[in-house]
Amino acid sequence: MALVVQKYGGSSVADADGIKRVARRIAATKRAGHDVAVVVSAMGDTTDELIELAEQVSPMPPARELDMLLTSGERISMAVLAMAISNLGLEARSFTGSQAGVITDSAHGRARIIDVTPGRIRTALDEGAVAIVAGFQGVSQDTKDITTLGRGGSDTTAVALAAALKADVCEIYTDVDGVFTADPRIVPTARKISRIGSEDMLEMAACGAKILMLRCVEYARNYDLPIHVRSSFSPHEGTWVTDKPIPASLSSDRGESPVEQPIISGVAHDRSEAKITVVSVPNNPGTAAKIFRAVAEAEINIDMIVQNDSVGASGSADISFTLPKTEAQTAVTALEKIKDVIGFERLEFDDQIGKLSLVGVGMRSHPGVSALFFEALGEKKINMEMISTSEIRISVVTRADQLDDAVRAVHTAFGLDAEAEAVVYGGTGR
Ligand code: ASP
Ligand code: MG
Repeated sequence: MALVVQKYGGSSVADADGIKRVARRIAATKRAGHDVAVVVSAMGDTTDELIELAEQVSPMPPARELDMLLTSGERISMAVLAMAISNLGLEARSFTGSQAGVITDSAHGRARIIDVTPGRIRTALDEGAVAIVAGFQGVSQDTKDITTLGRGGSDTTAVALAAALKADVCEIYTDVDGVFTADPRIVPTARKISRIGSEDMLEMAACGAKILMLRCVEYARNYDLPIHVRSSFSPHEGTWVTDKPIPASLSSDRGESPVEQPIISGVAHDRSEAKITVVSVPNNPGTAAKIFRAVAEAEINIDMIVQNDSVGASGSADISFTLPKTEAQTAVTALEKIKDVIGFERLEFDDQIGKLSLVGVGMRSHPGVSALFFEALGEKKINMEMISTSEIRISVVTRADQLDDAVRAVHTAFGLDAEAEAVVYGGTGR
């Protein structure tokens, strides 16, 4: 018997039929002899709808009240799911994040989990009940106000709860069959990965793969907790994210762990970034430091940086960097303020970019990866505007409208295409 934490996303519980389907899955796991704690997201696009509602009454809703509003989405799904399970003859008890002991800091809208004290969940499980926990929410240690963890935060709730309960696995149920070698909505021939190490998964998530939130992968890695990403719409085995052996009682394809790491794990893409170019920066030591100090003081996280010495004799350079689109305005304002101190000519802003990353720990020891990567883009006449690499990743920036083609070209060039098309069961992937 194992302790299983299952997380169901919004598209899995979009309507009453979805909730009944999920309830049957939970009941089957329970009847197989396992203890089950469930973390659930708000139904369908409820969270987006609640945000729209808030914006209709106030252009800048107070953060405390917005969190109070948004957490109601998960309260609806947890209670309705508990009802559906009890209708199948099993006991189920729902708990808010606060009741489940999810303690956070007080940063509304992006709170971090500080601690999970799941005493009530443990008691419910010990008494034979299925425990249902509202995802994406907690309670602030200092202010005692209700907080949310940031969009997609239910995954983090699930992993944090699983770690606190010392669960055998955290199963993340979604609307595709697992982690794919690329987003199957863009690459229909993407292949399901049956097992991926935590280092590759961390890099894929950091590079924009939306299947798992970065924070949740970090959490699982720190606690050495296996994650099993799978579909709530099909019975197939999904993707195991773990560096450990897969627990036999929870997996149907036993002992099939690959002996050798593949060179490439997958292709991730990201449309959420923008590019700022600081044109004609005096080419003296210390100027780049001043630029990035100003950006850092505005609390902006930057991603790629490229500097080009200008070819003329002007002694100046252009510096480009990428950052989240949502932070671009703040960065531009911060840089405009130091324009005269630094003496650059002007700022250029571009939000029509896309980023593509090829990820694989196997490329560490494998020559020729970059060459093949650049050839694949060259053949499709896709221009690369920025390049950055690490031991286990190559990332490039392209025009936004060429990104999908670029992802497909690289996916094919590295032999990742499957014969059959991947199934996307529902949802918008948002
Ligand atoms: N309902 C929240 C959202 O849509 C949390 C989640 O789905 O994980 O972002
Ligand atoms: Mg959601």
